[in-house]
Amino acid sequence: MSEWDRTVDVIVVGQGIAGSCAALEAKRAGVEVLVLERASGGGGASALSQGIFYLGGGTDVQQACGYEDSPQNMYDFLRASTSHPDDEVIRTFAEGAREHFDWLEKQGVPFTRTGFSGKAVYLQTADCLLTTGNEKIWPFKDMAKPVPRGHQARSDEVNGGLSAMRALLARCEDEGVETVYNAAVTKLETDGTGRVVGVVARIDNAEQRIAARRGVIVATGSFTNNADLVRKWLPLLSDTSSPLGVPSNDGAGLGLVEDAHGQLAAMSGVIATASIYPPEGLVKGIVVNSKGERFVAEDSYHGRLAGFIMEQPDQKAYLIVDSEIFAYPEAESAKHTLIDGYETVTEMAQGLGMPAGTLERTMETYNRDAQNGEDTQFHKQPPWLKPLDKAPYAAFDISFDRSIYNYITLGGIDTDSHSRVLDAAGKPISGLYAAGACAAHIPRDGKEYASGLSLGPGSFFGRVAGREAAAA
Ligand SMILES: Cc1cc2nc3c(=O)[nH]c(=O)nc-3n(C[C@H](O)[C@H](O)[C@H](O)COP(=O)(O)OP(=O)(O)OC[C@H]3O[C@@H](n4cnc5c(N)ncnc54)[C@H](O)[C@@H]3O)c2cc1C
Repeated sequence: MSEWDRTVDVIVVGQGIAGSCAALEAKRAGVEVLVLERASGGGGASALSQGIFYLGGGTDVQQACGYEDSPQNMYDFLRASTSHPDDEVIRTFAEGAREHFDWLEKQGVPFTRTGFSGKAVYLQTADCLLTTGNEKIWPFKDMAKPVPRGHQARSDEVNGGLSAMRALLARCEDEGVETVYNAAVTKLETDGTGRVVGVVARIDNAEQRIAARRGVIVATGSFTNNADLVRKWLPLLSDTSSPLGVPSNDGAGLGLVEDAHGQLAAMSGVIATASIYPPEGLVKGIVVNSKGERFVAEDSYHGRLAGFIMEQPDQKAYLIVDSEIFAYPEAESAKHTLIDGYETVTEMAQGLGMPAGTLERTMETYNRDAQNGEDTQFHKQPPWLKPLDKAPYAAFDISFDRSIYNYITLGGIDTDSHSRVLDAAGKPISGLYAAGACAAHIPRDGKEYASGLSLGPGSFFGRVAGREAAAA
């Protein structure tokens, strides 16, 4: 192997939330850390985000807001609602989440002790705690006690993600974490045994080979902005779907790791959303497909609703309301359009081109169930049940190919509970770690997602990676 330009203990690739947390922990373990960040500053998609961290197990905020949670309860919910194959990953996160909240707060990430009990996608206030997933949805509500776990960093002055990243980047600077910007890692170097021993990076238009004595941590973010990979893995996303992230969320880390024989997982997972709420009263409406049939509990997390809509015939779906709950959807980016108002259900079914009688039957069943306070089909919860019987009626087009569904990819590098990158045989690759959105998420698709399940585990397993690499 030719000579190295430089040698350090740990190299962190990317300075979003996962990379920052990894770098801080590695540095505090007393080893020499170098962060290489391709952009001209740190933050990544993390700084653009709403700043919701999915955390629980009895955090100070949960307690202050009067909720009882435990690591076991959090584990039970995540186990029931996600299909991640490695139980140890879920267990480790659930058991460490409470301490992790304290750690984030100690770094200066601002969280207040107040919550919001309604249904919202995110908050634009100083409040912190909100329900961001499917905790209250059947069947999960019967498998774990529903409690809110979305902890949103203060969002009254700037978006929560920026509040969080400002604090973490300041910490990195204060503690002397060496960071080189405009430094894109283009290759991982391995030795004869397959161990990752360093990187090749393009810095100021020159190539440098930098060795890592203890390990390389890949924290390069999602592949949301890689059109080729998105086309290959997520063919159900429509032309009107819109990626959420920074331009450098192009999956560069996935290619680096694959070349070093790392395995990818859950690549067809995506959280796409064009939420029907706010206002939350719209959740009392029903969502039907082009055959006039319901297919999901409408009070589900917006990513779950979207996951089901994506799979409907022609990806068509309509939100049906009556005059009592009529309101325009407020999520501006969603662009749900009002199709029309109708005096009768039959007129509406004809207007929407549905097979004769189907929408009428759907509404008869739903209205009877709502009257009885029990949704016998999809178990929508009683607070959201009301007969839709006050004409006139209205239909909004929430079809996948008509509204704007913003998406974030969930698939990526296969890792274990120690943030080690796994090869095709499921064995850790020596010297190689990954965390954050470049690694496959705990939720494997939008139906399993809860807001905060990117920043929460991303920051948590970033720290794990930093500690593990430093100790290697
Ligand atoms: C508008 C918006 C709102 C969101 N809201 C939430 C939310 O509230 N809660 C939540 O959990 N998730 C949310 N998400 C998703 C979440 O922000 C991301 O999944 C998460 O921030 C990813 O963190 P990361 O550290 O893995 O990646 P990033 O923060 O994207 O950081 C990766 C960094 O790696 C750098 N990089 C890439 N390639 C290279 C390379 N080859 N060499 C060197 N550096 C490289 C990038 O420039 C970037 O700075 C939101 C996303 C968006 C866009």
